Order: sequence, then structure tokens, then C-alpha cells
Amino acid sequence: MRILVVEDDVLLGDAIQAGLKQAGYAVDWMKDGATADQALATEPYAAVVLDLGLPRLSGLEVLRRLRGRSAASAHIPVLILTALDSVDDRIKGLDAGADDYLAKPFDMGELSARLRALVRRSGGSAAPVLQVGGVTLDPAAHQVLYRNQAVDISAKEFSVLHALMLNAGKVLSRTQLGEQLYAWGEEVESNAVEVHIHHLRRKLFPDLIQTIRGVGYLVPADKNA
Ligand code: CA
Repeated sequence: MRILVVEDDVLLGDAIQAGLKQAGYAVDWMKDGATADQALATEPYAAVVLDLGLPRLSGLEVLRRLRGRSAASAHIPVLILTALDSVDDRIKGLDAGADDYLAKPFDMGELSARLRALVRRSGGSAAPVLQVGGVTLDPAAHQVLYRNQAVDISAKEFSVLHALMLNAGKVLSRTQLGEQLYAWGEEVESNAVEVHIHHLRRKLFPDLIQTIRGVGYLVPADKNA
């Protein structure tokens, strides 16, 4: 899952980036509103953490532009960061299309939990744990079980499997999966997605992830779910 963090406070931005990376997300961190606006116009993010008081373009304006850009960008979950006592900011942010807010200072664990809930709901599922064909994926515990046995998988493999299970029944292209895996400036190997899928097939039962030739990959929707 790739997350955009927009925060001009360097200490806080650094802490958020580190905390979300540790939680297994690929994180792009932008320090002003105009750069964030450009990134949102071109990059596919699973969610956005948005400070409101930003240089060059306010957080509210970034949010309004995002919501007005396209049908897809209207649905990207956005969590705004506001000053502790600013009820007015929270109201304006929610009215401009924010899905949730946290008042500073906040706990990193709470930020991670709120993001998990937002990403889950945007995937159309309210269940915190995903289950398809004997495989259970728990985003909070960062754990995968196959037939109730814990499976040892890497952070990138987890991201690929999470995206596919969240979109069970839909085909995701190699590019869509790759874009969720890497933040800007990270080295991307050209066959990274294939390699992760190959490893996942060895560790889980091989039929879970289907290859749709020339299109991408699919985890079928569970008929028993
Ligand atoms: Ca700020």
C-alpha cells in the first residue's frame, strides 16, 4: 500500500514516515501543498495523511482539488491533521471531503489503526481480517495464515497479497501492483511483482493467485465467504 504524507513540520513528518514504513506501507512524504497536489494528479495512492497548514497551497485547497479531479480521486481516503483546539478546521476539512481527522499531538499507533480502517472501507470491506480460500490476512497484526498456520512472508509480499485480497474478484495489472509497492526514489526492479507473486505461490497454495495473461493477476472472490 502506498501512502502520501503531506506535512511541513520536519520532525513530525519524519516520525510519521518512519512509523508508517514500520507498519509496512510505502510512504511518499511531501512538505508543501503544491508538490502534494502534483503528486496526487499522477500517482495512485491508497490513502493520504494531510496536514492543513501548509506552505504554497493549503491542505484544504489540496483536498478540494483532489476531490474535484476525477471519480477515482474522489474516493481516495484522506485523513487530515489539525491543531488540537481547532474545531473549525476539522469541520472545514470534513466538509471539503476528508474521511477522518486526528488532532496533534497524536499517537502513531492510532494513526496506523485509523489508516487501516480507511483503506479497508475504501476497498468495500468492513471486515478487519480478509479471508479467501483458506488464506487469512490480518492487516493490523501484519500476519498471514494458511489453513490456520502462520506463513512467513516479506513486507513487499504482504503488500502484493493485501492489494489482491482487498480487490478479490478484480484483475490488477502488474503496473497497478508495482505502483503500490514502491515510494518515490526507491529502486524498482523491473520484474519485482512477478518475483513476489512467485514467492507467494510457493508459500501459499499455488492456485490462490491466478495469472490473467496479458492483463495482470487475480485472487478470485471467495464463493464461501
Ligand atoms: Ca503545518
